[in-house]
Amino acid sequence: MTRALTLGFVVWLLAACAQPDPVYQRTIYTFGTLASISLYDLPREQAVETANELERTLARLNRDWYAWGDGTLGELNRALARSPKVAIDAELAELLRRAFEFQSISQGLFNPAVGEYVELWGFHDSDARASLPDQQDLNAIDSPRGVRLTREGEQFFIETDRPGIILDLGGIAKGAALGVCRDILLTAKVQRALVDLGGDLIVISDATDPPFSIGVRDPRAAGVIAVLQANGGEAVVSSGDYERFFDQAEERYHHIIDPETGYPSVATAAVTVVDLDPVLADAAATALMVGGSLRFHALSKLLDVRYATLITADGQVLHTEAMANRIALADSGSGSP
Ligand code: ADP
Ligand code: MG
Repeated sequence: MTRALTLGFVVWLLAACAQPDPVYQRTIYTFGTLASISLYDLPREQAVETANELERTLARLNRDWYAWGDGTLGELNRALARSPKVAIDAELAELLRRAFEFQSISQGLFNPAVGEYVELWGFHDSDARASLPDQQDLNAIDSPRGVRLTREGEQFFIETDRPGIILDLGGIAKGAALGVCRDILLTAKVQRALVDLGGDLIVISDATDPPFSIGVRDPRAAGVIAVLQANGGEAVVSSGDYERFFDQAEERYHHIIDPETGYPSVATAAVTVVDLDPVLADAAATALMVGGSLRFHALSKLLDVRYATLITADGQVLHTEAMANRIALADSGSGSP
């Protein structure tokens, strides 16, 4: 948890340093992390109102899209334990539709049905102590398949032949929430803004305004490893093995699970993706973590991601071709702006 907080602040500080102070700034706790809303160029009263709306919306989405909570996804998971077919609302259906789409495109590396593994490892709850599960318990979980989204008229359903399945949207929920924030900001005609959910962020800016400078966190040290410029509407999303993890016998165990093995993915420390579609950016960052350096270029193409950077556990840095042209590596070690 502390780690996620640090990341949020690194990004925020850099962004804030690169341009004039925002008119209004608010820090909130949501999606298990410290988040910041920065609004520029609008009357203070309107800024307060807009920040209120963003905060309210983020609270609702966090409740609804958290697999172990009391919102719509938590209800769905509880209902799936009792019934093979459960009705869901259109908003949740749309997010699940995209999740299954990414599952298919990523050849299963992104998989929203990893919830049982995530829970067994103890990564589902920021208050829980994560630990190495018993192999028997891991083996007892069927590989995460056997669930589909169906529709009858206007009504959507989730159907599964696997009681006990836990659908976990943690791999795209923040990206989806950033998309909703962008809609709110554009509807409110805000010209310049940054919403940062602990290192996953979206920016609003006019083509004539300077882009936002965003720091990419060094996964193995304090500070930033690279800086990139984000243009209006773009999301910058990172996944890493440093957000929720524990180390044991010189192995790093973290919260992104390889659905084939039930174990945390190995050999990749961090991935950053920039895209105008924040849900794609989030899903891709998670999938590229699991795919690792060997599949990085092929998987970026499959996912239709232009801008991605992957940092291996031993410090190698890979960029997609387009990303190489827009990211600058920071001087090693120090990252303070
Ligand atoms: P973060 O939310 O920490 O920024 P991610 O976007 O990579 O990072 O999401 C990680 C979360 O996604 C995990 O906590 C878990 O809920 C879920 N998850 C873990 N492994 C996978 C996977 N292979 N596919 C989809 N979701 C996953
Ligand atoms: Mg993700």
